[in-house]
Amino acid sequence: MFKRVLIANRGEIAIRIIRACQELGIETVAVYSEADREALHTRMADKAVCIGPAAAHASYLHIPSLLAAARMSGADAIHPGYGFLAENAYFAEMCALNGITFIGPAPEAMRLLGAKATARETMLAAGVPVVPGSPGVVKDLDAALAIAREIGYPVLIKATAGGGGRGMRVAESHRDLRQAFLAAQREAAAAFGDSLVYLEKYIEAPRHIEFQIFGDGYGNIIHLGERDCSLQRRNQKILEEAPSVALTPRLRAEMGQVALKVARHANYYSAGTVEFLLDSDGHYYFMEMNTRIQVEHPVTEAVTGIDLVQEQIKVAAGEPLSFSQEDVQLRGHAIECRINAEDPANNFQPAPGRIEHYHAPGGFGVRVESAVYSGYVIPAEYDSLLAKVIIWAPSRAEAINRMARALAEMKIEGVPTTIPFHRQIMGNAYYQRGEIYTNFIQQRLLAG
Ligand code: ADP
Repeated sequence: MFKRVLIANRGEIAIRIIRACQELGIETVAVYSEADREALHTRMADKAVCIGPAAAHASYLHIPSLLAAARMSGADAIHPGYGFLAENAYFAEMCALNGITFIGPAPEAMRLLGAKATARETMLAAGVPVVPGSPGVVKDLDAALAIAREIGYPVLIKATAGGGGRGMRVAESHRDLRQAFLAAQREAAAAFGDSLVYLEKYIEAPRHIEFQIFGDGYGNIIHLGERDCSLQRRNQKILEEAPSVALTPRLRAEMGQVALKVARHANYYSAGTVEFLLDSDGHYYFMEMNTRIQVEHPVTEAVTGIDLVQEQIKVAAGEPLSFSQEDVQLRGHAIECRINAEDPANNFQPAPGRIEHYHAPGGFGVRVESAVYSGYVIPAEYDSLLAKVIIWAPSRAEAINRMARALAEMKIEGVPTTIPFHRQIMGNAYYQRGEIYTNFIQQRLLAG
């Protein structure tokens, strides 16, 4: 087992990883930017190293500083968390070259799955159902028009390097596509440093269903069921739950097998997520695979009882998976609400500032993952996630009640947050019936 793990991240996920290490008896090294001097993760770790100025590119994304911090502190492994360098194959390679274990999949798997158009092409060839669209990258407008004619409108232009719900554009017609195609390429180049785009049929009001998979270095690979992440705002997840009301045991088993096929095809090990869209006719389509631990991993932990971060660390240290497919039994229902420092009344504008008062909810079945405290000043440089509230209960209806109770108990004063918005969702009749599609917020909440 590792002696000392450096956590190349900040916020709630850094704390999540520190806790996992502590329980495994591993020492921890936190890194922080100048904007994060007062951050909780720096205090919870055994050691903390400043790695640069506030701007992420000069600190949390700066590979030489991270490697220097790891060497200086004697860390033998690095956990990247999510975001930042978590899906950067070059970083994983540099860790290996420096004799440090990267806690995640092999760089080759990250490369294969990281470029979305390539992943699509590979999985299409492997016989995995993908969203109808271009086989790979679309070179020019003429090719795009030809594909759109074939699959029919509306179509979605997606950046192969896109992520976080960004880099997508819908086109309803030939005329739209003509206008949108070049703009999409330009935007992709500006946002991701890569102008390559591909086309997908735009699926109307689908559900976003993703499978958690897990593999070790000995060829064992299993899945831990699905998460329903259909509740989104502008293609970004805001609430996730497990299991999905839309899946029968039979569909779950079938999609789980397809997810494993995707993972096996990439020789995958460690934690990963295979994302699908499920349309109203029950057809599912592979969208992409994320090669990291995800924000919403706790809902899977809640229904399976398996600590995914500890498992990532053990597998990276060379241990075989500690459970088999038969050991994975889904129990009860879990919901996660992402509490962001955003103003729902003002188009969800991020609202950094000082938290005057913080009180976390508690009680049976309530878990809070957060990095804030009373008096904490939220830096403007990073994302606006303040806390995740994760509820477990025997049934979905009880989980909704419990979430409503916990959200009522939670206090964050000083900045606007999405707590009232989540309370509204819990009280929504469509939500309560499980009628959730990716357009839910637009259709059922904001429309009035
Ligand atoms: P990212 O990596 O940026 O999160 P994804 O490919 O996972 O991008 O897509 C994010 C969300 O965008 C999906 O959950 C879904 O709501 C929407 N989306 C993506 N592709 C399609 C599609 N072909 N049709 C309809 N919605 C889509």
